Amino acid sequence: MHDLDFLRTLAVQAAHQAYAPYSKLRVGAALRSAAGHAYTGCNVENASYPVGGCAERAAIAAAVQAEGPGFRLQAIAVAAFGSDGAALPVSPCGACRQSLIEFGADAAVTFRQSDDGWMEVKAGELLPFRFILPSR
Ligand SMILES: [Zn+2]
Repeated sequence: MHDLDFLRTLAVQAAHQAYAPYSKLRVGAALRSAAGHAYTGCNVENASYPVGGCAERAAIAAAVQAEGPGFRLQAIAVAAFGSDGAALPVSPCGACRQSLIEFGADAAVTFRQSDDGWMEVKAGELLPFRFILPSR
């Protein structure tokens, strides 16, 4: 099985674990680290909306927890489903794009398109004018 297909399958499974009682949008993410390990995450909402977190950053947190600060992102798949269970075309939000680039600007990012196919793009292409902390 192609590596991205494997990650897509894991992302779909992770989406089913989401806690999304407010938006009803269940999102799962599955990533492959440069070290060759897979990590997943799902969105976790809160009654105080800004407290909630995205699937992509949950997966990154799991990877950093497991591998430490040397973690590097090789690829990530994102899958989203509506309240009726239908797959939805959802790409990573702006905050997640910045977070993905932090760990791998050249990492492959794949998410579903409106035609039900999967887009594949490099993380850096999702946020060309990303924030870079100026060195002093
Ligand atoms: Zn996000």
